[in-house]
Amino acid sequence: MPNEELKLIHLVDLQAQYATIKPEIDTALERVISRASFILGDEVSGFEEKFAAYCGSRHAIGVASGTAALRLALAACGIGAGDDVITTPHTFIATAEAIAHTGARPIFADIDPATYNIDPNKLEAAITPQTRAIVPVHLYGRPAPMQEILTIASRHRLRVIEDACQSHGARSGDKRAGAMGDAGCFSFYPGKNLGAFGDAGMVITDNQQCAARVRSLRDHGRAEKYVHDTLGFGERLDGLQAAVLDVKLRHLEDWTERRRAAADTYRQLLAGQPLILPPEDDEQTASVYHLFVIRVRQRDRVLGALKAANIGAGIHYPLPVHMQPAFSYLGYQRGDFPHSERAADEILSLPLYPEITTAQLEAVAAAVRDAIAGSEAPTAVKP
Ligand SMILES: *Cc1c(COP(=O)(O)O)cnc(C)c1O
Repeated sequence: MPNEELKLIHLVDLQAQYATIKPEIDTALERVISRASFILGDEVSGFEEKFAAYCGSRHAIGVASGTAALRLALAACGIGAGDDVITTPHTFIATAEAIAHTGARPIFADIDPATYNIDPNKLEAAITPQTRAIVPVHLYGRPAPMQEILTIASRHRLRVIEDACQSHGARSGDKRAGAMGDAGCFSFYPGKNLGAFGDAGMVITDNQQCAARVRSLRDHGRAEKYVHDTLGFGERLDGLQAAVLDVKLRHLEDWTERRRAAADTYRQLLAGQPLILPPEDDEQTASVYHLFVIRVRQRDRVLGALKAANIGAGIHYPLPVHMQPAFSYLGYQRGDFPHSERAADEILSLPLYPEITTAQLEAVAAAVRDAIAGSEAPTAVKP
């Protein structure tokens, strides 16, 4: 008989989520298929309007992925060859990749090790005469310190393009992630807090001109049906994904509450253990817990122990972007961003999704406690 605790606990469980909304999703998919509304069209514009309203933004433009959102938003803000754009090395590679694909040079600034987000105190030192923009990432669902970032940006006349790919609905003061800078970029990759059934993304902005440029760029620089006034891309959001996302958006607030409750349960179950818990919310910040990331010593050994207990833990991300072979041309080396490098060695993402049960949270926490029993906690780090 398979032992209950050997049942696999996934990092994310998309099948569990589909089971809760199957009739709504199936109806929406049938509607799109029967209308053959596959590219752009009413499904896409309807979802764009709802997502803009949800974020508190004037415009939303559906695109093919989060990476496309970043690249098109940067291009729409006029970023290109000869420009420098500052971001964090502790992120998914797509953030810096999108910067590089515009022709600009990614410049990194280290993180605040307490929050894993870019440290505003490191940001100013990274500004060069060529710097045109900052791309803060709201990592793991927690907003970056936008007040400080926006103040520095306005002092140096820099654009701010938010990478909100992990933070749908997160709040900083009375604003949502993505709605604070010149533009905000979202991914609807299936495992994100709001996930499509494939690749999808969105740019939000209050700026009419930026919105019009992204709209044109996503669709081959089209001005009229057969007239293209700039070189664009084939990076549109499709109707099936928009219909799925439209259904899921109705559930997002509820799912976020469930994520936050699961995070609270982990905090209680892991209190007093030799590990570092994720930063708590403060009065300015409400995280949406895309990931629940702890820090431990001997992380790879702990990860191995969790895998052996059939628990799908992960690492986001094990190799900082400045050390990726693809970016060796930038000339960075190990030691340049010590907080990001150390985080990459100690972080561990525990299973977290809206449908996770208390029994599953308890099983994960028990396995973590076993794996780190007798070890020392990582030393707290000050930025
Ligand atoms: C997922 C993600 C992206 C890229 O999104 P895709 O939809 O996969 O292209 C960019 N930045 C961050 C921080 C992400 O988590």
